[in-house]
Amino acid sequence: MKRLLPPMPGYCLPRHCPGGSLLVFAVAFWCLAAVSAVSAAEPTLVIERCSLFDPESGRMLPEQTIVCRGKQVVAVTDADEFDKSGGVSGEATRIDGRGKFALPGLIDAHVHVVFVLDLAHVAGDEVLPLYLAAGVTSVRSTGDVPAAATLVARFAATHPEWCPRIFTCSPLLDADPPIHREVGYPITDPAKVPALMDEIAQWNVTTVKIYAQTQRPVGRAIIEESHRRGLFVTGHLIRYSAQDAVADGIDCLEHITSVFDFVIPPEVAGTPGHRGRLDLSNPLCESLVADLAQQKTYVDPTLAVFRNMLLLPDVPEIRDHPDNAHVPQRLREFWPVYLRRTGCPHGGELEDRRRTFARYQELTGKLYRAGVPLLVGTDSPEPHVPPGFSLHQELEMLVESGLPPAAVLRAATLTNATVLGENERLGSITPGKDADIVLLSANPLDNIRNSRTIELVIHSGIVCRPAELLKRVPQD
Ligand SMILES: [Zn+2]
Repeated sequence: MKRLLPPMPGYCLPRHCPGGSLLVFAVAFWCLAAVSAVSAAEPTLVIERCSLFDPESGRMLPEQTIVCRGKQVVAVTDADEFDKSGGVSGEATRIDGRGKFALPGLIDAHVHVVFVLDLAHVAGDEVLPLYLAAGVTSVRSTGDVPAAATLVARFAATHPEWCPRIFTCSPLLDADPPIHREVGYPITDPAKVPALMDEIAQWNVTTVKIYAQTQRPVGRAIIEESHRRGLFVTGHLIRYSAQDAVADGIDCLEHITSVFDFVIPPEVAGTPGHRGRLDLSNPLCESLVADLAQQKTYVDPTLAVFRNMLLLPDVPEIRDHPDNAHVPQRLREFWPVYLRRTGCPHGGELEDRRRTFARYQELTGKLYRAGVPLLVGTDSPEPHVPPGFSLHQELEMLVESGLPPAAVLRAATLTNATVLGENERLGSITPGKDADIVLLSANPLDNIRNSRTIELVIHSGIVCRPAELLKRVPQD
């Protein structure tokens, strides 16, 4: 059985309410009355007359005024109605939103807050301001030593002015010995899974992750026992096939290869350059894509790590991408060491690797068109996948794969919040939700690259400036 996630919340805003103008006025009055009723001791922030991205409709709504009090959004309303009502009483910080575009805080659905950083002798907290500087106000850890990740998450929670919110994950549940000894946890006997899940359920994780060498009997037991405890299960699959995992009710697949590897017909597998030449209209592919769509299994493609680390790390535009300059030198200098250690790039000649990446993007577009819910994750801080900034690269690669900008932004906000079980608190700029807002100077629906035109980031109601955040990241 799949975990039942809470229903998507609806805006309680005038423009979304059915009925005539009297009702609209009544609701506007109610919203504004609610603003006045909130404790006056908390600081008030008003963003006036901005455009606002609504991830549910995929529309950019013009002339909106957003009111935040303390760490919450308390009203979002038509700017003229707001002015007619007299606005907010008392002191408030006012931001002129004219010509600006407000996005909900972005969420990266696949990061590591300890792993790889520890190998480079970088403490997790040192790179956290990079996320916020890039408008990423929450991250989903997808495999770290739980105690260490919990410490980084607690540290982040005490410094919302320069750290994103961090949601933690189980270790990588794998065979014995696990592939990544630092973050793997061996489990090979299905009978031992219930006791392990009892323990994991106490760690306050939001995600349980099945890793590459796990076989079906253990994988199925992990899914069943996790769902019994209300936990969300994702998988980076190699031995446990995607077809079996989807049939067993897994909630999510990490990396496009957790789909791609299982749609290669046996007669072409292993032939030279077969990945780059794969025909994605083959029956195996059509059938798995249909199953994923029917089961509403989430897929988190993480195209950034495939392009930047695994397939094309030797391409100068990727290796020397300006985004990489933001990370501490220790991490930047460790990346080529880690690439050698992991045998990257994979996949033969450069042209073969380019063709393979093109097929990964083609499959991503096919999943979207079939109705498979996609997430936006990066696998930061793997080589050339810098924290925070790589999310904008991922947004661009998803648009190149055929997703409309509105769909990509919805995935990076409301869908990512939903898999965290946090869609009533995060993922849209809605009264009652946390005040996580990215204010842009250009419209990302016109060009997804405009997601980088960040003027301000508001995290839990705190106004943060990207230039100041970047100064907090050590250069050495
Ligand atoms: Zn990862």
